Amino acid sequence: MKPRNLAQTAISLAIAAPTLATAQFYGDPPDATHPWAVHDMNRPQPPVVTPAAKPGDPPSDAVVLFDGTEESFKNNWKHVRDKRKGDWIFKDGAMQCAPGAGYIRTKEEFGDCQLHIEWAAPTKVQGNSQGRGNSGVFFLDGATEIQVLDNYDNPSYADGMAGSVYGVMPPAANPLRAPGEWQTYDIIFRRPIIKNGEIIDPGSQTVLINGVVVQDSTPIEGGGGHKKRSNPKKPFPETGPLSLQDHGNPVRFRNIWYRPLRKRATDGGTDGQLTPEATTVKRAEIAAEIRKDAATKTGINQMMRLLESLCYETNDSTVKDANAMLAKFVKSVEATPADKIESRKGETKNVFGALSYLATHKRIPADHPAIKALRQIINTNGWQDKKK
Ligand code: MG
Repeated sequence: MKPRNLAQTAISLAIAAPTLATAQFYGDPPDATHPWAVHDMNRPQPPVVTPAAKPGDPPSDAVVLFDGTEESFKNNWKHVRDKRKGDWIFKDGAMQCAPGAGYIRTKEEFGDCQLHIEWAAPTKVQGNSQGRGNSGVFFLDGATEIQVLDNYDNPSYADGMAGSVYGVMPPAANPLRAPGEWQTYDIIFRRPIIKNGEIIDPGSQTVLINGVVVQDSTPIEGGGGHKKRSNPKKPFPETGPLSLQDHGNPVRFRNIWYRPLRKRATDGGTDGQLTPEATTVKRAEIAAEIRKDAATKTGINQMMRLLESLCYETNDSTVKDANAMLAKFVKSVEATPADKIESRKGETKNVFGALSYLATHKRIPADHPAIKALRQIINTNGWQDKKK
């Protein structure tokens, strides 16, 4: 896109000139609920994650809960009840529920996550409705269940079918493969946040079965349950184990991993739109970081970084320092001999662009003396941007 005004021209030049690459006066600045500017280069880069070679396998930052080996089960899982009949069975890279062996749960406790899990109902079809290939994926120590059920050519009550938030919301589709074939679940789980009986965030579950969306940010509504309407104001723990159900059917599981999700603004996260109070705190933090970085620089680079910090937070001592540097800068450009003045064009226009941006967004007064002085230098030398 072509630059549309002086401030945008300034950033184009700043990008071209490596010495000024860190300072930016570009998109709409921080406001009452957005701590960063639009297109803000100070905003942290997302961490690099290496995806798996094969879709569905764990990416580099995943926590693997079951890799197909009995050892991985022993390290990461335990039985929920001590008194039980037998153990789950490990065979061909999968673990299989042995009816009567009871629920199993992860040793690790976690909250909001992206979960991948694969399951297969028995090839030999037995039973119907809820009695066929029934298991379940439970978050937060049983607080909510995403149903596992062999619904291939097997109707049941809709809010209890495979991919349902059990007792709350049916899946939007039934994309199951035949019994015996592997099914994938990809689940994005966000716990409800309830404080003092008030629902701050209802939480949500998004579920894909075999790549097909069947739950799309479905509110958790208390987690669901068997026969009973659940209580949406029931407090939820922040973290808890993941558990898998023994519903009396030999359902197999494999390739189980999760990734924690970034925190929501309602949960102390600072990546998105924030409350005015949290925004003020975050803007002060960003400004402090930029001023710390400015202290490692010299000359015009230091000045530009200090000016940039004013986009986030105004501070008397920074304004004073920046003004002193600006006065020195203006003086040095004014003192440049005519045969050398062209060499000052780029930086002069950069500083003028930055000041124009700051004035437009009311970070400095529109009649700031440096704006007036630099405008005069630009006009005298015919450096104005051509009208588009
Ligand atoms: Mg179940």
